[in-house]
Amino acid sequence: MLLKQSGHTDEMRGFWLLLVLVAAAYADERLFIGDQVIRVDAETEEQIQLLQALETQEEWEMDFWLHPVSTDLPVDIRVPLSSLGAVTQFLDSHDIHYSVLINNLQDLLDEERAEMQENQMNERSTKSFNFGAYHRLETIYSWMDTLVAQYPNLVSKQQIGESYENRPMYVLKFSTGGKKRPAIWIDTGIHSREWVSQATGVWTANKIATDYGTDASLTSLLNTMDIYMLLLANPDGYAYTHSNDRMWRKTRAVNSGSMCRGVDPNRNWDAGFGGPGASRNPCSDSYHGPSAHSAIEVKNVVNLIKSHGNFKSFISVHAYSQLLMYPYGYTCGSVPHKSELDAVGRAAVQKLTSLYGTRYKVGSICNIIYQASGGSIDWSYNMGIKYSYAFELRDTGRYGFILPANQIIPTATETWLALKHLMEYVRDHPY
Ligand SMILES: [Zn+2]
Repeated sequence: MLLKQSGHTDEMRGFWLLLVLVAAAYADERLFIGDQVIRVDAETEEQIQLLQALETQEEWEMDFWLHPVSTDLPVDIRVPLSSLGAVTQFLDSHDIHYSVLINNLQDLLDEERAEMQENQMNERSTKSFNFGAYHRLETIYSWMDTLVAQYPNLVSKQQIGESYENRPMYVLKFSTGGKKRPAIWIDTGIHSREWVSQATGVWTANKIATDYGTDASLTSLLNTMDIYMLLLANPDGYAYTHSNDRMWRKTRAVNSGSMCRGVDPNRNWDAGFGGPGASRNPCSDSYHGPSAHSAIEVKNVVNLIKSHGNFKSFISVHAYSQLLMYPYGYTCGSVPHKSELDAVGRAAVQKLTSLYGTRYKVGSICNIIYQASGGSIDWSYNMGIKYSYAFELRDTGRYGFILPANQIIPTATETWLALKHLMEYVRDHPY
């Protein structure tokens, strides 16, 4: 009896300790209570310009999930509760139409968090990894070790450097031998809040490992080429989306002379660096940084790609909008291989769509979204890596960056069909 009682007390102490730890872990967390995500449908060029002016205005603290570029494209904006009245009044007074996509962002985030915690408990009790769930950085890193241990003859883990906050950056290398075989690069999560990207990367890495030896086409591919995957291209940002701010996009670098942190790691590459579609304001979500490759996370990738010297394809995975894009972003001029890249992209998307009917648009970054300088695939293309592509995964705005976890596996599965098509094409068209 005495024993039992003391056991019970220990249990209670454990419970309270856990509660305190959980509370402490989320103490710095940014809340989005009452924040709305609205979709603005600009109908005239004048309205686009008004929205563009709003984007540079800092007072209302709007977070543009999709930027105003043309009347054909929607503009999604997270509006904080505190400026909701002012913003809607502004839109109404200019007769700009909008609808509410997400009524209270915090509700969605609470659901997402509850699901993650439930999944964590299930994974602990079943000692398994659920590919249909979002995971924290540590969990993904330890899963990578499991994968390497499971497939030691195919998968290895390489550290390519450290992030700004000294987190290791790991690539998974899928190789059946040979020295510096022609290789395919896939990175996910360069923008930390685009969670379905990292989750798709994890699923895809597992898919490559499990299908090697059974899928004849993938097997032949891996018998002549290597695949490199960087699942967490922005580890500090990713950790921060879990601990502090789910909407964080950039790195966590300190910017000298500014209170605002972070560089947009997809505006920091040496390709039209500092041009249109990137901001010189350190507080902007598309801040390009002080100089090209200043972001250590970018520099680490640049170093690997350069020292390897035999990459034939470079694929960068983002969310959201359902697009498959090729260079350029920094100019709307065409790349020399435009017609080939376009045709291959269209064929890849056709495969993707065949599974669930998910519709994608294909085109150059500049032509299908907006001019954006300093992007990774422009850099890789200019480095001579012809098959450079960027994905924007699901959805088209219903949930935006907060894509429910039950869409991870369908997203990854359909994306795999496109990825496989691209990789097979690269295998069959050596250059
Ligand atoms: Zn992105």
